[in-house]
Amino acid sequence: MVIVLKEPVRQEDIERIVEILHGVGAEAHISRGEYKTLIGVIGDREKVMQVPFEAYPFVEAVVPIMKPYKLVSREFAPEPTDIEVGSAAIGPETFTVIAGPCSVESEEQVLEAARAARKAGASLFRGGAYKPRTSPYAFQGLGLEGLRMLARAREETGLPVVTEVLDPRDVEQVAQHADVLQVGTRNMQNFLLLREVGSTNKPVLLKRGMSSTIEEWLMAAEYIAKEGNRDIILCERGIRTFETATRNTLDISAVPVVHALSHLPVLVDPSHATGRRDLVEPLVKAALAVGADGVMVEMHPRPREALCDGAQSLTPESFRSMMEEVMRLAGFLGRG
Ligand code: PEP
Ligand code: MN
Repeated sequence: MVIVLKEPVRQEDIERIVEILHGVGAEAHISRGEYKTLIGVIGDREKVMQVPFEAYPFVEAVVPIMKPYKLVSREFAPEPTDIEVGSAAIGPETFTVIAGPCSVESEEQVLEAARAARKAGASLFRGGAYKPRTSPYAFQGLGLEGLRMLARAREETGLPVVTEVLDPRDVEQVAQHADVLQVGTRNMQNFLLLREVGSTNKPVLLKRGMSSTIEEWLMAAEYIAKEGNRDIILCERGIRTFETATRNTLDISAVPVVHALSHLPVLVDPSHATGRRDLVEPLVKAALAVGADGVMVEMHPRPREALCDGAQSLTPESFRSMMEEVMRLAGFLGRG
């Protein structure tokens, strides 16, 4: 349930409600919006319902949340969440572009890619130091050495770094080097990992599980939020269907569906959704058109030499020309 307080809100009233909630063993999650202050209640429904919150003069309304996820729901925070990462912002006012190679391969490759991302106008840089590969014999990433290379790329370009964390035991180390922790499609329901990233103070980019429903995806986000980390960025990256023309099927309708259900920002990853470089630009435009908060795309200085996902990686040149077009359209839509 959500308790809506009457304006103007006094700190002592918030504290009073929090104290009552703790008294019945419930947790209070406070959300101070521009117009309203809300207190999200997580606890034993029966016990919480016995408290006559409406009887308090500073309570405006008590709204039950029927959805299984609470903290990430629209009811809990009616205004969209804006997430700041260093110099970048992810939210309704902007169309944020994250770009970079699938994996960190060498310092030279990472620096080249980061410079190209920056020059073309990307706001964040991506690259995997720990790679989830279908084959145990495929390149698994450079690990800690890769994290250090990413940190060097940030130092040089100023672009905040997004990188995937695969193992709950690596979360602390990855959080020391990265600005955004990515949880990949294969780990969307790795609940230990979700809890661990939820205990950090770094924003989390949560990809949709390739076979997960939107509700399961939002429940995964709820795991992170429940640990106290509210900076969650959702990323639609294609789901498995019967179609074989593309690597996955981009569920573009997930963007407005999730925006209606949740206050969290939603990005689109057309690279993993399709596996095809030629489809990246049209789907970035589709993402912009349906109101996505941004995109994440793969770009490699020399895709033919890429150790992973070369076929879907843009070249620096094609990335730059795509950016010119997309930023022009974004500016036209007031999302520049
Ligand atoms: C990636 O972004 O490099 C990645 C592995 O993505 P996904 O988890 O969506 O497959
Ligand atoms: Mn990839």
